[in-house]
Amino acid sequence: MTIKRDGRSDAFFDGALRDELVIRRCGECGRWYAPDAAGCTGCGAPKLEWATAAGTGTLVSWAAVYSRDGGRTAHIGLVELPEGPWLQAALSGVDTPVEGLALKARFTPQEEGEPLLEFVPA
Ligand SMILES: [Zn+2]
Repeated sequence: MTIKRDGRSDAFFDGALRDELVIRRCGECGRWYAPDAAGCTGCGAPKLEWATAAGTGTLVSWAAVYSRDGGRTAHIGLVELPEGPWLQAALSGVDTPVEGLALKARFTPQEEGEPLLEFVPA
């Protein structure tokens, strides 16, 4: 799978190239949102700004991904950022996920396309 930017995601991937987790924040009330959020559900502002998050998170939930032959290939985690939003991303270096595990964001270069967001143990 090749990750491609689509215009709306440029700020996110520009941040990824600097190894920064860039997500959305409301310029009116300061609430934080996931990168795919459009408007502020808190104050009703129609537009959100891009802002750099701390790049840390806490594991909320996860799912294991298996290959056809039954081998586990990856964990996909649901990660709560200290700013508030929850992000879904691959977990790397996490053999035994536990709720509340402290994580940090990492961007892994791919052969093609944009880097892949992963969370690794903090
Ligand atoms: Zn707002």
